[in-house]
This record gives sequence, C-alpha cells and structure tokens, in this order.
Amino acid sequence: MVARLLLIEDDLTIRTPLIRALRERGHAVAAASTAMSGLRDALDDRPDLVVLDLGLPDLDGRELLRMLRTVSSVPVIVATARDDETEIVRMLDAGADDYLVKPFTAAQLDARARAVLRRSAGEPGVAVLVVGGLRVDPRSRQVSLDGVPVELTPREFDLLHHLAARPGQVVTKRELLTEVWRIPYGGADKTVDVHLSWLRRKLGESAQEPRYLHTVRGVGVRLDVPGTGR
Ligand code: CA
Repeated sequence: MVARLLLIEDDLTIRTPLIRALRERGHAVAAASTAMSGLRDALDDRPDLVVLDLGLPDLDGRELLRMLRTVSSVPVIVATARDDETEIVRMLDAGADDYLVKPFTAAQLDARARAVLRRSAGEPGVAVLVVGGLRVDPRSRQVSLDGVPVELTPREFDLLHHLAARPGQVVTKRELLTEVWRIPYGGADKTVDVHLSWLRRKLGESAQEPRYLHTVRGVGVRLDVPGTGR
C-alpha cells in the first residue's frame, strides 16, 4: 500500500531520516515545519494521511488537530513526545486516528499508517454517496448534481455529506453543530441556517421550493430524493 503522507514536524533531526525511510518504503512524503503551513498543505494537497507532531513552533498540535477536523476527515496519526495517557486520550477524542510515542522508527510509523489507511478505506465515511441525481464523493470531496459538478466550500461539503449519508432522516441543527462544525455545545442555529441557504443556492433550490433539502420546522433538516419527500 503506497500512500501520500504529510509529515508535520519541525525537528529536522526527526523529519529528515523519517522522510527518507518512508520514501524508501514507497510512500510519497511531503513535509511541513509549522502548524499553519501544515494545515494549508493538508487542505491543498489532500494527503491520504497526516502525521502530526504535537510540539510545533507556532501552534499547539492539539489546536491544529481541532482546526483540521473542522474542515477535513483525513486520517491523522499524532506523534507525541509525552507518554502521557491523559494527553493521548485527549488527542484521540479530538479526532486523531492513532498515536506514536517518540522516539519511534519509520517501520513503526509505516505499520501504523497502513493500519489506519486500511481502517479508513473500510469505513462507510469514505464511500461515494448517491442520492437521486446527487453524487457526493468524500475521497475527492467532489459533488455533482445530475452529472454537473457543484463547487462547494469545505464546510458546505461536510454539511451536504452528513445529510446525504442519512437520506430521509431528520437531522437536528444541534447534531449538525456537533458533527459538522465540531462545536460540542453552544453554537448558533443561525450558523447552520446560513450555510444551508448557501448550499441550497448552489444546488439550485430554495427553502420555499425545496428539492433535496427540506426544512423540518423547529427540528432540523432532511435530505430526500426529489419527489419522495413527505
Ligand atoms: Ca516538535
């Protein structure tokens, strides 16, 4: 299994040999030395897997993971210097797929990476969703409607993907704030409303004349194949 890996690590003495060893194993490896450049690369280059060092010069790795998770479901392996159970649990809760405690070898990372990639390939979360004329591909993050590509922002994509994975079900705004915005509590319904209206416009429909996206007043929203909605 050959993968496109993004290594976010500021320490050259770790990074350089790791890149070399991973390339020897056939992986395509890109690297970033700061959290912000890593975040940008993760979004622009869409790697198969991110390896994230927690001690970065510009931002805490946990904060970066939180930001990454609001826009991307790319698998993440956290590289931590601390063999600290609390910290590891916190990272896994924050959306990390696995972790490695430093120092680790390229062989260990390679094995973990392959396991994470096998797991994520088998998850329903990466299956292409087809609902009526709507096609949502979470791997390429591309959407088409009746064969025509639809350009969505990362957030609009995640919102549509969440709804398209549950056709016919009413999804509450609370659930959307938690699952799509990753806001575990608080947050405003208005945020959801605004993004829904943008999404509707891009899908060529409106709240008054819905096709796929049906508002269920006071509850949330439901995605349905046109003509089958109640
Ligand atoms: Ca570091």
